[in-house]
Amino acid sequence: MIINVNQIVEDKGLTIHHLYPEGEPDLASEDSRIAGRSILDLRIAREGDRVKIRGSISSQVQFFCDRCLAPLSIPVDQNFDLLYIPPIGARAPDEEMEIDPDDLSVGFYQGQTIDLDDLVREQIELALPMARLCGEECRGLCPDCGANLNHEECACAVEQIDPRWAALKELKSGN
Ligand SMILES: [Zn+2]
Ligand SMILES: [Zn+2]
Repeated sequence: MIINVNQIVEDKGLTIHHLYPEGEPDLASEDSRIAGRSILDLRIAREGDRVKIRGSISSQVQFFCDRCLAPLSIPVDQNFDLLYIPPIGARAPDEEMEIDPDDLSVGFYQGQTIDLDDLVREQIELALPMARLCGEECRGLCPDCGANLNHEECACAVEQIDPRWAALKELKSGN
């Protein structure tokens, strides 16, 4: 969904309530996707070429555990308060820009349009945990046979004895 900056009436703004079709928007990464229907609520205001977007996205995101590849699903409810400005060089020269360079919630728009699907993708990525695990204690898959070590002990693990212990074992068993 793309909005045109010129469509946003100054002082009046724009309110958007959007229910995405099943599974949309497509996420940028291949290892996660949206399940079900996401709800986007936005309040958009414009002051000259500065566009403020406040709102929330509610979604259900599916991904796989990084260690054991179990399918996981978590709810995402992300609130945001963003400022969009034209890229440097495209702004009106007489305009006072009072933007804290440390403000991470500043985005840039090109050609008078803002892609709200991109905004949603970014916000969902921000909401996802860095470590995508089924649990802190996940033991992952055996690198040799692929067994899920959360559910079973495989024979490979038994054979991987530290050579120092193996030597000790021989000492003990010898007379
Ligand atoms: Zn796992
Ligand atoms: Zn194994």
